[in-house]
Amino acid sequence: MPADSTCQSRARVLYGASSSPGAASSLLDIKNLTIEFGSSNPPARAIEDVCLTVQHGETVCLVGESGSGKSVTALSIARLLSSPPARYVQGEIWLDGHEILGSPEIVLRRLRGRIVSYVFQEPSASLNPVRTIGSQILEALKLHQPSLATREEVVRLLTIVGIPSPETRAGDYPHQMSGGMQQRAAIAMAIASRPKLLVADEPTTALDVTVQAQIIDLMRELQARLGMAILLITHNLGIVREIANRVAVIYAGQIVESAPCSELLRRPRHPYTAALIKAVPDLGRRANRLHAIPCQVPSPFNRPKGCRFHPRCEFARPECEQNPPMLIPAGLGHWTRCPWHDRLPLAPLSTDSKA
Ligand code: ADP
Ligand code: MG
Repeated sequence: MPADSTCQSRARVLYGASSSPGAASSLLDIKNLTIEFGSSNPPARAIEDVCLTVQHGETVCLVGESGSGKSVTALSIARLLSSPPARYVQGEIWLDGHEILGSPEIVLRRLRGRIVSYVFQEPSASLNPVRTIGSQILEALKLHQPSLATREEVVRLLTIVGIPSPETRAGDYPHQMSGGMQQRAAIAMAIASRPKLLVADEPTTALDVTVQAQIIDLMRELQARLGMAILLITHNLGIVREIANRVAVIYAGQIVESAPCSELLRRPRHPYTAALIKAVPDLGRRANRLHAIPCQVPSPFNRPKGCRFHPRCEFARPECEQNPPMLIPAGLGHWTRCPWHDRLPLAPLSTDSKA
């Protein structure tokens, strides 16, 4: 095992111990997960040595730009990545006491829906265009909560997610609803099975800004009401501030920082997190001074040596090009992959920043 890997395994143990005493009974515990795609030599390593925990009832945000490995991580939780082309090279995924990677398909089918449900960026990924919303929710109930499979429960779920005139709208086809209403219906379907964990993969990215805020409010409300845990995937730290208890930042397939939400936004300890923070629109700044991180996330075939972020890092030093950095502690429950973090002027999220 490479040194990096060994150290991160150690970091994971410490991270669990210091941030969550009940880590042994975490709802979700992803341990040192590495996933590759394809048969090229070397293969495309989408995520590497990823560790992530979600406790019962908490909201964890997984944050990073496009191509960082967020969806691959999310889909792996219920083993939804088809294999091949995906290969689970290393690691374990514990979900509500079940080890996912070693479980037979019949067990996974039982866990999907009942323990973990998904909401995707496009509601069309969850909704069937040729069936009414009500019949689809009823079917989800029949599958996972047969004793609750009634029209009343369908109407109750549509009410919970804020769909007006739910008795009538249950008869609508998806195309008769706006994007925001479709996403509410997709959320109603996802929570119909009363999952312990809701995984929401960029659920607001395809929506208007005002509707985005409503969907985030809805998720916060649902969590308070139903007590489920949420793993929310986003590239927007403004959204993170609104909803997260803890945050993990992923870059080029590796977790580069993780911390309690307020700590991460007040005291970022990795230049990539600080760059994401700078990219959040600031009401106090003029629009033409919006910050963009230069260049793009490197592809799995073209990862730089040393620190994967160094070519885009405004604080990079010659050492960063050589040595792959390990996750190191940066505070209570706070981990970073930048060895220089305590010597860098990393700015916090301004209170004027908007979601
Ligand atoms: P994100 O959700 O952060 O935008 P993804 O998790 O979708 O990123 O992708 C991470 C990396 O894995 C990307 O480089 C992507 O090209 C690669 N990848 C994802 N799915 C596949 C696939 N089915 N086949 C090959 N490569 C893939
Ligand atoms: Mg994605």
